[in-house]
Amino acid sequence: MADGFRAILVSKDDGGQKAEITTCTEADLMDGDVTLSVTASTVNYKDGLAITGKAPIVRRFPLIPGIDFAGTVTASTHPDWKPGDTAVLNGWGVGETHHGGYAGMARVKGDWLVPLPSAFTPHQAMAIGTAGYTAMLAVLALERHGITPDRGDILVTGAAGGVGSVAVAVLARLGYRVLASTGRLQESDYLKRLGAADIIDRAELSGPGKPLAKERWAGCVDSVGSHTLANALAQTRYGGVVAACGLAQGMDLPGSVAPFILRGVTLAGIDSVMAPKPLRLEAWSRLARDLDPDLLDAMTTTVTLDQVPDTARAILAGQVRGRVVVEIG
Ligand code: NDP
Repeated sequence: MADGFRAILVSKDDGGQKAEITTCTEADLMDGDVTLSVTASTVNYKDGLAITGKAPIVRRFPLIPGIDFAGTVTASTHPDWKPGDTAVLNGWGVGETHHGGYAGMARVKGDWLVPLPSAFTPHQAMAIGTAGYTAMLAVLALERHGITPDRGDILVTGAAGGVGSVAVAVLARLGYRVLASTGRLQESDYLKRLGAADIIDRAELSGPGKPLAKERWAGCVDSVGSHTLANALAQTRYGGVVAACGLAQGMDLPGSVAPFILRGVTLAGIDSVMAPKPLRLEAWSRLARDLDPDLLDAMTTTVTLDQVPDTARAILAGQVRGRVVVEIG
């Protein structure tokens, strides 16, 4: 078909959920006031869950997954967008209930889009993707709660992953002393190159711990959850802040209130999906200022649409280092 484009489509039948590469047309796209030609997308942990069906991320079938994309507007009835504009989309249920970024074209609400920052190419914006933008939301939360570099070290868990890699690079550039917790000690040199001052074996944090333990850090960006988050809280200094954004170890929080009521620790929740537009714009402008593009390149690999299903399995197995861009257009 003349206007056909390649896409990944997740469908479900009695045999379960499957993801296949197919050809779609603009008529297959969902409602929206802006249509875009997609240049690049990315594979986040959540995309891994969506494509493999390991968690019920996709809630409407058949669906094009992909929670992020960068592209160029081809048609618009939205007052803020005109053909030729470049834009980034992160979240808003795209890749969950609305067709997402693993396709040559997308149609979405113009209110969901942010302008592609002039500092970034579409490829770089997707190297950041939801993982990197979430890392910046976590850094902003630490700052809003008064955690400045002089307050003490910052722990980053899941450090060799996507959120973790961007958090390490941004925090180090801002002058924080970063402790990178990882299960991949062979990635210590990589993490030090991003700016980590010290490496912690994640096994130190991933088992059941005490309600309170020796105070070690002033803040934390946690993409892991479960015992790791409970231990991060238990070892946070008086008045410190833990920004919790992930669940790579688990969704549970097997801790106690002791860090909150005895040390005045703050647990700051981070959500990227429904974050309001002003906060998104702030995060993207801070990424343009505070993320070294050379380090972004160093943490990024690029795959094709055909390689997305394998990459989805790899990210859930904890085998993806840093960030993955999917070249589309
Ligand atoms: P990645 O897979 O790239 O990173 C996760 C990292 O967590 C892994 O690389 C690994 O790091 C560590 N990890 C994996 N499994 C375990 C385990 N069983 N125990 C302890 N550590 C583990 O994923 P992303 O960076 O894309 O996402 C990270 C998390 O953040 C996910 O849970 C994701 O759903 C969540 N997220 C939430 C958002 C929000 O809006 N709140 C937005 C974006 C992401 P290492 O090898 O260094 O130990």
